[in-house]
Amino acid sequence: MTGTHDFEGMNALVTGGASGIGAAVTAQLVERGAQVAVLDRDTSHTPLGALAIEADLGDDAAVRAGVERAVSAMGSLHTLVSNAGIGSIGTVEDNDDAEWTRVLDINVLGMVRTARHALPHLRRAAAGRPGAVSVTHTCSIAATAGLPQRALYSASKGAVLALTLAMAADHVREGVRVNCVNPGTADTPWVGRLLDQADDPAAERAALSARQPLGRLVSADEVAAAILYLASPAAASVTGTALAVDGGMQGLRLRPA
Ligand code: NAD
Repeated sequence: MTGTHDFEGMNALVTGGASGIGAAVTAQLVERGAQVAVLDRDTSHTPLGALAIEADLGDDAAVRAGVERAVSAMGSLHTLVSNAGIGSIGTVEDNDDAEWTRVLDINVLGMVRTARHALPHLRRAAAGRPGAVSVTHTCSIAATAGLPQRALYSASKGAVLALTLAMAADHVREGVRVNCVNPGTADTPWVGRLLDQADDPAAERAALSARQPLGRLVSADEVAAAILYLASPAAASVTGTALAVDGGMQGLRLRPA
């Protein structure tokens, strides 16, 4: 595909790019002509055509080495998609400090570490490609809607939303745009793993789909398409924005039938 979504000549790094939303982003970027490196703790399912780099976002030295390896393999970095994240279920009474520290370390600090090591490269690339250089975070509607049983996860994504806005302000004059997408319930291996814990996963999937305004889950490809828009030159004037891809979960107030 060419035109507004043309990534020819652009180099991208996708964290969590070996599964779910990240894998869809990686595949779409490759299809549209970008060179892509994936940074993931498990690279066994990295989409074809991407460079797989194994690193845990909890390890700052490993993240720095991974970013440097990606940039030296590709030559430069225009697009950072900071997508990897982990879930946690429960109220504030259910999770102890160790669990809070574990999840915040990956969901928030993981994005901070990746940005810290990628920004010098993004700044350099921005000089040559105005409007085309960006960071896109995978946030969640959990950042803006009160979801039950998701206190820790929601707090982590609220921090990602605030980080997105602060980074957008800090780097706007450097030519680095920073945005996030807020997926609703997306059909990825993550959700598959949650459904598999139910007594009847197929019935649980049908019930979950029925609860969505659209009557179905959002697909990983649909979330990826929004991320590609935000990362593309077509979004040259878009920074500090959260784009919901949630099938209407956040915005709609449907009347009972
Ligand atoms: P997924 O589990 O299918 O993929 C996540 C990827 O991140 C995996 O490849 C995993 O190996 C990698 N990863 C996890 N922890 C890592 C670490 N410490 N270091 C390196 N890599 C790590 O999940 P997904 O559903 O595709 O989720 C991707 C993002 O989307 C997450 O940030 C998640 O919070 C967000 N999100 C998902 C949904 C949903 O319904 N699936 C909804 C809203 C937001």
